[in-house]
Amino acid sequence: MVKSVRTMNKERILQNRKELISNPDWNSYKFQLQNRIKAHQLQDYFLLTEKEFSGIRNSIRLNVGTTPYYMSLADPEDPECPIRKMIIPSDSETVISPEESPDPLHEERLSPVRGLTRMYNDRVLLFSNQECSVYCRHCMRGRKVSFNDERMELGQLDECFDYIENNPEISDVVISGGDPLNLTDSRIDYILERLENIPSVKICRIGTRNPVTLPMRITHALLKIIDSHNSERLSIFCNTQFNHEKECTPEAKEAVLKLLKVGVSVGNQCVILKGINDSGEKMLSLHRKLLEMRVRAYYMYDPEIIPGSRGFRTPLRKGFDIIEYMRGKIGGIGIPQFVNDLPGGGGKITLSPKWYFGFHRETRNHLFKSAVNGNYHISPEPVDSGYDLSYDEVDPELWMQVKGNLKSVQNG
Ligand code: SF4
Repeated sequence: MVKSVRTMNKERILQNRKELISNPDWNSYKFQLQNRIKAHQLQDYFLLTEKEFSGIRNSIRLNVGTTPYYMSLADPEDPECPIRKMIIPSDSETVISPEESPDPLHEERLSPVRGLTRMYNDRVLLFSNQECSVYCRHCMRGRKVSFNDERMELGQLDECFDYIENNPEISDVVISGGDPLNLTDSRIDYILERLENIPSVKICRIGTRNPVTLPMRITHALLKIIDSHNSERLSIFCNTQFNHEKECTPEAKEAVLKLLKVGVSVGNQCVILKGINDSGEKMLSLHRKLLEMRVRAYYMYDPEIIPGSRGFRTPLRKGFDIIEYMRGKIGGIGIPQFVNDLPGGGGKITLSPKWYFGFHRETRNHLFKSAVNGNYHISPEPVDSGYDLSYDEVDPELWMQVKGNLKSVQNG
């Protein structure tokens, strides 16, 4: 029987994957980075669709690239595979809408020194490098990430440290990029050493996707460096970005456990992404797996309005629905805060489904709706509070509707 072109291509792709995965150096992060799969090589590992070919040809944002490890988590045939969508540009990435901006959070405007963004009084964001293990298609910093002219030289990093030192109200430094763990061990050592020696800096948060995209980067040597600076003077945290349960592999778990062993707690900042994780069920599965891996839920971001992002953006409603769905089905440490980083540099705000319906002045009760069973519950304001007039009054019609069926301290 004559094989179809598709069948032959599929066999070739599976063989290519097999050869790569069976390489004796597979578990070396250097091997993974040296063999990063670039745009022109994707067809060796995926049966690409026309839309993907078009996305790769006309991609307008950051470069295309993935570690072989992360590629191996993606389906070679199914264009709807969530991991694949984060690796391969789609043709929707090539369409720019008028409301989009390369820097929606105004990180450049809020930058007192190249590579440093100061949106808050006590915290700064240090852009340490432009490189990552995987160039995620939804990256909100695609204007900088992967471009060599965005490289941060040592002198430029030193200017950032000087600024931090001269502004002692800064106590918390987020290192991000790019991915700081794509720097060499010695550069990471240098950065942490400098921060540790600034007396006002107490907290350092490393923002990295390497536990997800290149877990073998968490080496013994790197841990030794982190451990040596996670000290009385400086507390080091790690925030990562798992977006789908398929990313929660044994390798990823091992990386997280290694970080925990040197006292670095790992939190997750996922992004709601259309067709990838934009449902309560998918977010719940992800966060259940994360808890099994001892990763705490931290943020769930509404996607940023960056150029070519329409393929990923979801209605704001989705975030409310997801949190509403999760509440009551997983413990609080597994529920992220739904966050919107306000366009125009307004900083982060948290958003929550409507569970509070206001104050009934006559009976001095607050009205709530249970996230678990949908019943209305009341809770009394303290007799001597003095805050009665500060609360919004409950809608009288709603009160009339529900008042015969309220749960309270007395009736449970
Ligand atoms: S690892 Fe982070 S900074 Fe790098 S491309 Fe992905 S989202 Fe962007």
